[in-house]
Amino acid sequence: MAAQSARVAVVGGGIMGVTLAYKLAQHGLDVTVYERGENLGGLAGYMPYDGVRMDRFYHTILSSDMSMQTLIEESGVKDKLHFTATKQGFYDNGQIHPFNTPVDFLRFPPLNLFQRFRLGLQVIAAQFESDWEKMDTQPVEKWLLRVSGRGVYNKVWKPLLRAKFDSTAENVPATYIWSRLRRMMGTREGVTSTEMMCYLENGYYTLIEALAKKAEALGVTFHLRAAIEEIVIEDGRAVGVRVGGQTQPYDAVISTLASPILGGLIPNAPADFRALLAKQQYLGVLCPMLILKERLMPYYVLNITDDSIPFTAVVETTNLIDPQHVKGYHIVYLPKYIAPDNDMANWPDEQVKAEWLKHFRRMFPDYDERSIVEFIVQRARYVEPIRPMGTRHEIPPIKTPVSRLYMGNTVMIYPELGNGEAVTRYVSRLVEQIIPEIPAWNVAAHPV
Ligand SMILES: Cc1cc2nc3c(=O)[nH]c(=O)nc-3n(C[C@H](O)[C@H](O)[C@H](O)COP(=O)(O)OP(=O)(O)OC[C@H]3O[C@@H](n4cnc5c(N)ncnc54)[C@H](O)[C@@H]3O)c2cc1C
Repeated sequence: MAAQSARVAVVGGGIMGVTLAYKLAQHGLDVTVYERGENLGGLAGYMPYDGVRMDRFYHTILSSDMSMQTLIEESGVKDKLHFTATKQGFYDNGQIHPFNTPVDFLRFPPLNLFQRFRLGLQVIAAQFESDWEKMDTQPVEKWLLRVSGRGVYNKVWKPLLRAKFDSTAENVPATYIWSRLRRMMGTREGVTSTEMMCYLENGYYTLIEALAKKAEALGVTFHLRAAIEEIVIEDGRAVGVRVGGQTQPYDAVISTLASPILGGLIPNAPADFRALLAKQQYLGVLCPMLILKERLMPYYVLNITDDSIPFTAVVETTNLIDPQHVKGYHIVYLPKYIAPDNDMANWPDEQVKAEWLKHFRRMFPDYDERSIVEFIVQRARYVEPIRPMGTRHEIPPIKTPVSRLYMGNTVMIYPELGNGEAVTRYVSRLVEQIIPEIPAWNVAAHPV
């Protein structure tokens, strides 16, 4: 017996790899996914704790994330999706200020009346500006200074940029704040401007697991603890993957890995393509996760404008997720985005814990520390893509210069942000480009 369907290896079992495998299987391809980790999910994966699953990193789905919600419905887990009104605040000069309603905005003490007006103008300007190419050609600092003015810039935007880029935002285009403002405004409902967010019971992994089951039903095979050692290229064509020292042949290989990781797996690809992958920039993240017995604060996110504090926000996800789904615990993350040259990336966990707790105590002097059950340092190296101004032409292509080697990852998603919504939408672009190529692969009959 022989089957004509093309055999494809998908490298990486994060949200992109799993969604892609499912979509390609729907087109009749014979797909195998290789994931280095013990579980699927990648950055959106989970950590088992006390018999429940908790997101390794805080993850929310916005009420405007339609691609995610469609996938959730298709995977049959819509009944596990909950919408909640969330709150946010600002920590400024030793004080916590709510920042949710128009009244909070009008009262926001760190800014005077005129500055508040200019901040409002910035938010409105982002909603009215639809030409992202125009945003791409102006420095973010210049755009913010022009609309918000120096006072608002120093008080609000500068700390947020520092939080996001871990250094100067000199070469960063305006698209970054513009995309964020537009995305966040999409979560607000009605005149009260309540911010609506969604969560899945037991985290993002609930979707990934359901999607993987659907994919398996369509014939997809998942290999866990299967780190690809090389994507085998012969005569300019991807012919398979090497895993566990063995070469597995495929008609095509699709990588969902971060660009520099892919670059290290393709020694036989053209040198200029490997150089292009190596120069793609990402920030990493150092993200301690606190498991608490008692609630810390009423906010989902508390933005920090004080640059003496090493972490840049406090995110209490159990103000979104009902604590009953995580055994009544309260979960807090204290993230710090890390530039590649920041020495903090090499700090041992104990040093991170000592430094972080010192500032945590300063911020929450009344919180009883005996409520901290665990302090777990989570880290990741390739998290937030950075696309400096004038480098749009350096975005790697889906169809690589190696025949039958395709790629997709967050560095290629621009000017949108690299979140689950954008990733799952990008999968459709991958599928659109790959499927029409299949006839040219001249797939031989495979024994089954
Ligand atoms: C702190 C934080 C907060 C976030 N918050 C949100 C949020 O609120 N909402 C949202 O939508 N998104 C959020 N995101 C972003 C979201 O996690 C990412 O957009 C998404 O997970 C990216 O998925 P991916 O599949 O492209 O990449 P990844 O998840 O990085 O997947 C790549 C996979 O490849 C595997 N791999 C690497 N090397 C190999 C190899 N040699 N062989 C085989 N496998 C390999 C990795 O183990 C990994 O599983 C957040 C991310 C972080 C870090």
